[in-house]
Amino acid sequence: MPLRGNLPRVGLLGAGQLGRMLFLAGTPLGVRFVQLAPEPEAANEFIDTIAADFTDRAALRELAGRVDVVTYESENIPLDAVEFLARHVPIRPPPGALAAAGDRWAEKDLFTRLDIPTAPYARVAGPHELRNALEVVGLPAVLKTRRLGYDGRGQTVCRSEEELFSGWDRLGGVPLLCERWIGFHREISIVAVRSHAGEVRCYAVSENVHEHGILRSTIAPAPDLAAELTAIASTYVGRIVDAMDHVGVLALEMFQHGDGLMANEIAPRVHNTGHWTIEGAETSQFENHLRAILGWPLGSTAQRSPAVMLNVIGETPDITELLAVPGAHAHVYAKRPRAGRKLGHITALVQSPQDGQAKLAELRGIVDRFG
Ligand code: ATP
Ligand code: MG
Repeated sequence: MPLRGNLPRVGLLGAGQLGRMLFLAGTPLGVRFVQLAPEPEAANEFIDTIAADFTDRAALRELAGRVDVVTYESENIPLDAVEFLARHVPIRPPPGALAAAGDRWAEKDLFTRLDIPTAPYARVAGPHELRNALEVVGLPAVLKTRRLGYDGRGQTVCRSEEELFSGWDRLGGVPLLCERWIGFHREISIVAVRSHAGEVRCYAVSENVHEHGILRSTIAPAPDLAAELTAIASTYVGRIVDAMDHVGVLALEMFQHGDGLMANEIAPRVHNTGHWTIEGAETSQFENHLRAILGWPLGSTAQRSPAVMLNVIGETPDITELLAVPGAHAHVYAKRPRAGRKLGHITALVQSPQDGQAKLAELRGIVDRFG
């Protein structure tokens, strides 16, 4: 892509911690940023900002005029905003990736088309489709809004037919996806990056623990994961990024279930389960995302050291205490505290993935006193 001048300029849709970490990774490379967001956090005030709604055409045109390429930090950006922008400036990852990941039905269909196992699912456009969904999916099931879900929001687990109907009422009568609730062994994810030329590199598979639908902690590499499953995970994510002609980072969340893996969802962007790469990999997911969207060579995704990551949710703990833990690195997003909100994360490098549990317990001992 022809860059205007020597210093590339990247437009960010959204102004949260992912944009903040992209900024922090891009600055040493001379990348400059402009963010567009409806309510930019004061936390990212060091980034040039256009404060406007994603539907504001004049603001989108202004952003397109000020940058060489636009990327996004959430799959909940309105698709028509991204399609409008794409007529004026390159968008990476391509709008098609957003379309697939922003609708749980399209996402599941993509898995099915690519022969990637996923939980049985059915579309529910109205209450008249609940019985059919029950037949396809079985119980227990989970109802999820097709759009705008994150951190477990817009979901309800159903153990009976009655709960399915009350779940429909509770979720507000919007189009839903019903899927089987999987009694998985554990959750894992793989973060991949794909270049303009179609080169794909993967980071180590991580083991993830979610609480109340929100990611709590990650260990990378996932302890005791069979080499075949690691290979299968990279095959699956490779199929997805190739099918979408993806450029940039993409995360695939999976359940380890029985002898195999089931895809849960994709995020066509840098991902919380890849935050450990800042200290734990040769090139962080944030730098590699920028390298990919700017048409630069990808950096090595090799792991420097096994690592653990703990999210700080709701309340900010005493940073002095956290930094006293050997190997710990703190990332504070400087966001306003609110229950259930991700405010920061701690990464610690460890000797082995098995040591990761003890390190996480030590960090949690500190963080939980504030949570
Ligand atoms: P994210 O913040 O990852 O985008 P999300 O709100 O889009 O979250 P999911 O990833 O679909 O939601 O679900 C959040 C968590 O809920 C999962 O990581 C998993 O722990 C649990 N979960 C979701 N679907 C299922 C399922 N079918 N079976 C078992 N557990 C599930
Ligand atoms: Mg998820």
